[in-house]
Amino acid sequence: MMEVYLDNNATTKVDPIVYEEMKPFLTDVYGNPNSLHKFGAGTHKKMAEALDYLYEGINANDADDIIITANATESINTVLKGIWIDKILYGDKKHIITSEVEHPATTAACRFLESQGVAVTYLGVNEEGIVEAQSVKDAIKDETALVSIMWANNETGKIFPIAEIGAICKEAGVPFHTDGTQAIGKFKADVQACNVDYMSFSAHKFHGPKGVGGLYVRKGYQLTPLLHGGEQMGGLRAGTVDVASMIGMGFAMKLATSPMALAYEENHVKKLRDKLEAAILEMPETIVIGGTSNRTPNTTLISIRGVEGESMLWDLNQNTIGASTGSACASEDLEANPVMNAFGSDSELAHTGVRFSLSRFNTEEEIDYAIVEIKKAIIRLRNLSSSYAYTPASHASGL
Ligand code: PLP
Repeated sequence: MMEVYLDNNATTKVDPIVYEEMKPFLTDVYGNPNSLHKFGAGTHKKMAEALDYLYEGINANDADDIIITANATESINTVLKGIWIDKILYGDKKHIITSEVEHPATTAACRFLESQGVAVTYLGVNEEGIVEAQSVKDAIKDETALVSIMWANNETGKIFPIAEIGAICKEAGVPFHTDGTQAIGKFKADVQACNVDYMSFSAHKFHGPKGVGGLYVRKGYQLTPLLHGGEQMGGLRAGTVDVASMIGMGFAMKLATSPMALAYEENHVKKLRDKLEAAILEMPETIVIGGTSNRTPNTTLISIRGVEGESMLWDLNQNTIGASTGSACASEDLEANPVMNAFGSDSELAHTGVRFSLSRFNTEEEIDYAIVEIKKAIIRLRNLSSSYAYTPASHASGL
């Protein structure tokens, strides 16, 4: 049976080129980069090269900082809690703006801050699943310490108007953090052009290793460390850095953000996503959540009436196809997808979302196989479903 991995928003395969770059630093080149002897120095050149790739990939300025963290979750927590300490505990700004559709790394950190007395505004999305820039403008107050809005949504792939939001924050003098985890490698995410002050990302979302991430910090912007200890990362994130992973992340960034790779996403990956999506939409009572405008090229979130998302995944897994009902961290608890809730989906539809997310490693042959199996699964599961009524539309298609 063919294996088809369509869950690349959860994590991606490490590119073999990235792995080759990492290998020596897992074995022979093992010195601590902070040591003064030759063993330590052996890692410096490659680490500096990797850092350059990170800067170039997001168009950061040389004078800015990129802090190496363990993942996007740590980066996001560092910004939110750092701002809380600087501007809220020891300042007079008590308000943060975010959205209802952020990843739990942001939402849970905001809930914690609320428990500490911070006022948090959660902006909704419009009917196309977009956080509108105007809603950010309307929500900014004198006490706003931070705006934190993701660049691209992990469930729908919707791309938010980060350039406009960045301009609004700049004009208002409010620091702006974006969760760029699903943006890197999908389109050009340029922090300077978009006036982004902080950006979080995770290597494993763009064919780098797991357990390493980054946080971009614009020069002159405050950052209170989450981890105190040694002087690594200029004292902004203590602890010996995972050298091999950091090098892997740099190379993964270089590969994922090259003009050729981005063109491949926009052409090849998008073409495969569109083919898959169009084939599923041939089935009656299926819709793309939020519609098809302004999306990352690799993602589609489809609601299939009468089909429980979890059952669909189980069925697809039997046929060695991996997809998702939502964010990997949230899908174990069987709660309705928060993004579907933000759309105000009725409770019946809220559990019917299935997310397919592709990558540059998917082939047309895989998509053709997936289409056949997905359609078979829809028919099978609808036949078993007590909630899927026989409608003229389903009758006409013979279901
Ligand atoms: N932000 C977004 C948009 C994500 O999709 C994810 C992972 O799914 C994260 C943050 C968290 O990434 P990590 O688990 O690598 O910390």
